[in-house]
Amino acid sequence: MRRIAVLVSVAVMAMGTAAQAQPKWALVVHGGAGVIEKKDLSPEQDKAYREAMTRVANTGADVLKKGGTALDAVEAAIRLLEDDPLFNAGRGAVFTAEGRNELDSSVMDGSNLMAGSVAGVTTTRHPISLARAVMEKSPHVMLMGKGADEFARTQNLEQVDPAFFYTERRWQGLERELKRQGLPIPAKPVGAKPGAMAELVHDEDGGRNADLIDLKKKFGTVGVVARDSHGNVAAGTSTGGTTAKRWGRVGDAPIIGAGTYASNKSCAVSATGTGEYFIRLTVAREICALVEHKGLSLQAAADQVIQKDLTALKGDGGVIAVAPNGDMAWSYNTSGMYRAKIADGQPLKVGIYKDEP
Ligand code: ASP
Repeated sequence: MRRIAVLVSVAVMAMGTAAQAQPKWALVVHGGAGVIEKKDLSPEQDKAYREAMTRVANTGADVLKKGGTALDAVEAAIRLLEDDPLFNAGRGAVFTAEGRNELDSSVMDGSNLMAGSVAGVTTTRHPISLARAVMEKSPHVMLMGKGADEFARTQNLEQVDPAFFYTERRWQGLERELKRQGLPIPAKPVGAKPGAMAELVHDEDGGRNADLIDLKKKFGTVGVVARDSHGNVAAGTSTGGTTAKRWGRVGDAPIIGAGTYASNKSCAVSATGTGEYFIRLTVAREICALVEHKGLSLQAAADQVIQKDLTALKGDGGVIAVAPNGDMAWSYNTSGMYRAKIADGQPLKVGIYKDEP
């Protein structure tokens, strides 16, 4: 009798712990990884990035609190980031060597493995919404260039003049990079005006990857992963790519399995870093595969791929991830990553540098 009572109470305690450990919803945000050290950011810049991360995480959380889907939360949060000139996505995106903003984005729904992505978009204000439209309103997974913008128009997605994406600081970054590479400086986009808050944009030139010196870049790609109260996960990523990219270069952000992946069987992942390595390691899918097939915890899987595999290849960057049980993780091998996480019953946590929890 006593034994049964003990067993019952142990079972109840275990259930209690499980209930506590499994939030109804969870959301993780990144605003790019790279050489981000305390000395690089002024107190104002530090504050501006933390405020932006807070605002975005809370926006996504509000969607989830109301019973909204992970997909809705991901899209709402990324739209805010795309409008924020602090980040390399939408307005504030980095420039190609020709002086254009060519935007990449992707989204994936873990409940049905539906996915959508776009590369080289130049007139659609919110590439994340276009990626979602590709997923939901077209028979395709990936559209590129003019055709992608053309599809956006058929879906009544807001179109802007390419100069809308212009920020002065990103242009200065382009000029520096082109000079360094000995390439000609193109004319500024017609109608270019300095963007709001341009002076706050983190202007460190990086050197995130000494081996890939010609791709030396800015950071500020954005991504969001979420788990909703229905138990579904979703992931999205949006970026301008790398400063002074040429020849129609496309990174990992719009590549399903590399920069973005989501499956209810394992997890949802969004990546940031030197895209070439993330493509070669299919980072996002690899993390999910380790969870699904090897039974690794979300954090262990993310660390395996970022701290071991990516680092061994001399790649750099990071990921955020969420699992269907509400576990959240991030991992990066750079000195910093703009990041935030929040879950049902758990306080918001915002970080930039490596030494923050
Ligand atoms: N992953 C992005 C790309 O390679 C850039 C970044 O995350 O900073 O296009």
